[in-house]
Amino acid sequence: MPDFDPARRTALRKVLAAGCALCVPVAWGTETVPGGVPKPAAAPKAGGGKVKKVSKAQAKYQEKPKGQQQCAVCNNFVPPNSCNLVEGKISPSGWCTLFTPKPV
Ligand code: SF4
Repeated sequence: MPDFDPARRTALRKVLAAGCALCVPVAWGTETVPGGVPKPAAAPKAGGGKVKKVSKAQAKYQEKPKGQQQCAVCNNFVPPNSCNLVEGKISPSGWCTLFTPKPV
């Protein structure tokens, strides 16, 4: 005779469901970049969609490069002096915590 306990199976299902319900919001709610800056909404997709930019202060923007990292080689930079993620005029030789290298 198999070792089958319906009460145990039901209890296990409830524990799994509760665990999943707790994990999903945690996974969705923790999108930050190093330094604790909230990650801006995804870059605009083809066909439209406006992105809310973050302030220079929130992104910890600076007018000088950080080592080899600078806006000119960042995937978010929009020549000549703009950024998809950070508000205001952006220097090609600037840098912020949202720096993302251009794909090679
Ligand atoms: S380093 Fe920061 S400010 Fe400069 S282009 Fe990239 S995301 Fe924008």
